[in-house]
Amino acid sequence: MEALLRLLPASLQAFLQLGPSPIDLSVFPTHCTSFASRIEIPHVTVNFAEYLANGTVLPLPENHPTCRTPEQVVQADLCRISLSVATSNSSEITMEAWLPHKYTGRLLTVGNRGLSGCIIYSEISMGASLGFATIGANNGQNGTSGEAFLNNPEVMEDYTSRSLHTANTIGKVLYNQFYHSPHRKSYYYGCSCGGRQGFHSARYFPGDFDGIIAGAPLIKFKALTAWGALFYNRTGPPGSDSFLNAGDWALVHDETLRQCDGIDGAMDGLLADPDQCNFVPELLICRNGQTHGCLTGRQVQTVRDVFSPVHRSNGELIYPAMQYGINTKDSVSYYLSGTPWNLTSNWGRYAIYGNPKWDPTTFTQADVDKWQSHPLETWEGDLSAFEAKGGKLISFHGLQDSLVSSHISTLYYSHVSKTMSKHPADLDAFYRLFMVAGMDHCSNGPGYSNFGQDLKFMVGREAGSHILMDLVSWVEKGKAPDVLMGAKRNEEGEVVGWKPHCRWPEKSRFVGGKWVCLTANDAAALAVKTDGHVSSEFKKLTNDL
Ligand code: CA
Repeated sequence: MEALLRLLPASLQAFLQLGPSPIDLSVFPTHCTSFASRIEIPHVTVNFAEYLANGTVLPLPENHPTCRTPEQVVQADLCRISLSVATSNSSEITMEAWLPHKYTGRLLTVGNRGLSGCIIYSEISMGASLGFATIGANNGQNGTSGEAFLNNPEVMEDYTSRSLHTANTIGKVLYNQFYHSPHRKSYYYGCSCGGRQGFHSARYFPGDFDGIIAGAPLIKFKALTAWGALFYNRTGPPGSDSFLNAGDWALVHDETLRQCDGIDGAMDGLLADPDQCNFVPELLICRNGQTHGCLTGRQVQTVRDVFSPVHRSNGELIYPAMQYGINTKDSVSYYLSGTPWNLTSNWGRYAIYGNPKWDPTTFTQADVDKWQSHPLETWEGDLSAFEAKGGKLISFHGLQDSLVSSHISTLYYSHVSKTMSKHPADLDAFYRLFMVAGMDHCSNGPGYSNFGQDLKFMVGREAGSHILMDLVSWVEKGKAPDVLMGAKRNEEGEVVGWKPHCRWPEKSRFVGGKWVCLTANDAAALAVKTDGHVSSEFKKLTNDL
């Protein structure tokens, strides 16, 4: 096959993604630096350009310390170009283009995390290693604090949408000039803040990308931040009668599994369908004379509060509850630590109150309404322009996400379905959502959570083992992913198994020794047939309530 391909013209070989680059590797380093010296794009300044060989461990001294990425492994021969782009008189973005020698004709732009401010080098390097010319930007600020939002609406505009759109637009120009040919397809990958950026782009810049991956998105942003800010108010500080320490939360986790682990058919320590879990924390209240391994009634109220949604003062539900099954046994999330979470604290200081000295421990339900007046939301249900131009969108969310409730992804799916008046079978034509049991925020967790989120989580390079290649297969070959395959690793990092993650609204069930995806009706019928695997205490109590 390869011998046959070598008979084809070089440009066609590149088009087929299998041949060598038209730019010889021996002149590629010179091409890199000389190209960068000739870049002339309005509002763009070239910071530096350098050739990086495959295997380089790249130090990143210019990356802000709070980004916690002092170095990045490079897994392709590539040209790295750093640019600054003025986005207004009082704002700019810095961006990088990693242009691999072995390129596939594909452009990839990656998003950001939290309130940052940080170029995600691990995602850029992942894209370049797969032959994507890959672009990433700093979202208009450096570092993770969000301090740059203070009295600067232009920085907020960069964060909301302008950084990504600008980086993608310039990335396309760079690509076409660097490789002397137009890119074939433009892709996007982002999780967390990046997930929100992906949905925002699909709605407002439908021409930017042919395919979008939007994971664990910070959508319904102003409601999310209010929900996040309420956790401290709900738990209280360590030592207070409402507070649960790490050992207490481990009890909650064990009891959650005792009541609900089997609902999905597998006693595997994971909840593949937390929607079906009607957790009853009152079963943890100390019996008469019991002093250990139990909770007080006040602490159980905290558990109820932690797994509750947030409403406006008029009763409107604005953000769903945390899903049951977050891993509070091995690690207690930011929300439950007895300290306000940095993201919401800084959002309050720099974006809501404009007061760096605002004290996040004062946030209560009474503040929720005020936070809803901020314009940043990302909750538009009409993605028809993106669908009409043939765009494909893959979303995913971990069912042990301890920072962003996975219910927001299913709620948004419902919102899009209703807004566009599309049955899920028809939404499937361009928008697919996969729920990942046992995965925390964007990655990690005890489940089958590795599917190529970045270089660290790459376990394959093809469709069926890498989410980005699933998207490529969908966009370029029309082969839509029915499931998202994820791999589990042991502590040594070895892959010990694979599992299919189902496409919403299908239900994941372990039947006959294997995981299958069922319709809600089939899953309900199975639950009746198998008595639902729920404990007798659980059934008795829920019948009584
Ligand atoms: Ca289970």
